[in-house]
Amino acid sequence: MSLGFIFGPVPSRRLGLSLGINIVPFKTCSFNCIYCEVGKTTDLTVKRKSFYDVDEIKKDFVETVDKSGHIDFVTFSGSGEPTLNSDIGELIDFVKSFNKYKIAVLTNGSLMYKESVRKDLINADVVVPSLDAALSGVFKKVNLPHKDLEIDKIIDGLFKFKKEFKGQVWLEILFVEGVNDSEENLNALIEAVNRISPDIVQIGTVDRPPAYSSAHKVNDEKMMDIYTYLSAHLKMKVDIIGSFNKENDKFYDNIERSIIKMVNIRPCSKDELKSIFNLNDESIKETLDKLIGEEKIYTEEFQSKLFVVGNRSVSMKK
Ligand code: SF4
Repeated sequence: MSLGFIFGPVPSRRLGLSLGINIVPFKTCSFNCIYCEVGKTTDLTVKRKSFYDVDEIKKDFVETVDKSGHIDFVTFSGSGEPTLNSDIGELIDFVKSFNKYKIAVLTNGSLMYKESVRKDLINADVVVPSLDAALSGVFKKVNLPHKDLEIDKIIDGLFKFKKEFKGQVWLEILFVEGVNDSEENLNALIEAVNRISPDIVQIGTVDRPPAYSSAHKVNDEKMMDIYTYLSAHLKMKVDIIGSFNKENDKFYDNIERSIIKMVNIRPCSKDELKSIFNLNDESIKETLDKLIGEEKIYTEEFQSKLFVVGNRSVSMKK
């Protein structure tokens, strides 16, 4: 019988079949995010410690993993911030020693400024840190962090980690209506994220009951605007996670408007637009032909390559 540290496997769009390891007690975290789906933080701390007997967690893993069938990832996550557990490095190395599981860590990234945390995560395959704000005031409103945490220090920690880490970093941003979705915060995030340089950026909004009822979902149209704006300014690929995603029909409702916005910000090739908006050859041709016919977008040749361009006004406002 499981001792309660291991859960799943649960199907995940990002990680396939994922077996979870929860190594912090409910609800121990360095943040108290207003959108948290786990609940309000009861132990707000930045102090790392060994919460449990590490051999018990290993035993639970061995007993559960045998009965779990095929799994794609072993994921450290759960009811709080996993890097607060000072045994996480030993546990990652333990799972790694089986030589057959990929390891992911879902973290709020707040402790990456500590060298010990960066070292502990070094043998994971994928680290998914979150970064919802790059401005101090917005950070405090959305993440309600422990008083010792500063956003600039966190961004520095993420930057250092990305340089040292050989695996993949998938940075996640969650948007809450009227809290961290302003153009000012987006611009600050763009600067910070381009500096950190994760492999991919994943954005989402409030999809499940939040810890605070004041945390509201960003509507689909605004999410599409945010996606378009970030895709135009970030050096890496942006993806949408959660209920509003590229497989959702609503994503396509605003496609023409978004293509116009996109090329107004940054000229794109047809192939780039096809990939950003997840369209097939036929749909991208049809959409571009229509918008060109209506003189809403234009094409321009540069160094023998054809670009789709717009009016080049740089703003995410309508
Ligand atoms: S960092 Fe994660 S676990 Fe902690 S409060 Fe925020 S969403 Fe919840």
